[in-house]
Amino acid sequence: MIPPVRPVPSRGRSTRAWAVFLDRDGTLVPDAGYVRRARELKLYPFVGEALRSLRRAGARLVVVSNQAAVARGLLDLDGLARMDRRLRALARSAGAPLDAAYYCPHHPDFGRPCRCRKPAPGMLRRGIRAFGIDPSRSFLIGDHATDLEAGKRAGLTTVLVLTGHGRRHRREVVERKLADKICRDAASAARWILEARAREEAKAPGPPRPRAR
Ligand SMILES: [Mg+2]
Ligand SMILES: [Zn+2]
Repeated sequence: MIPPVRPVPSRGRSTRAWAVFLDRDGTLVPDAGYVRRARELKLYPFVGEALRSLRRAGARLVVVSNQAAVARGLLDLDGLARMDRRLRALARSAGAPLDAAYYCPHHPDFGRPCRCRKPAPGMLRRGIRAFGIDPSRSFLIGDHATDLEAGKRAGLTTVLVLTGHGRRHRREVVERKLADKICRDAASAARWILEARAREEAKAPGPPRPRAR
């Protein structure tokens, strides 16, 4: 998989760190098929505020994206890097810089199977390690069954959004019980996540106390 170009500096590792893992196409940006120019990449209008609210609440923001267009020869690594820079710039201008973005450039029809292409959890595990993330307190938002399956395999709470291919994947996601929640879009997913976090915080106030021996 392709490592993040420039991770945002960490504010220190914490076992309490949590993250929202985000699919890109159909979740953050309209899914317009395979080949796209970086300058054509744009966030859904509701995504900026959604990402800002998650960041304000202390979430790490990690994009995890299958980009099989590379394996198919439709996009080269420079093109993928340009799209990555563009995505980060858009998130930054929206006031919500990404902590990392991981891309799987592979496809099993064009080479050996890899461990990063979703539904494999490789990119998620990498983010979990990189930022000391507690998966049980963290989330994944995506529009495909494969996104949610990867999230489940990494121990995350999963949210299906109905943008992108979400409506098409809804039945499979429900039948396979891959989603903890189904939301209209990433904005309503972010609101649900913040409510879920608030409920958890209310249940376990303050840092854990040392156990008496
Ligand atoms: Mg997608
Ligand atoms: Zn891969």
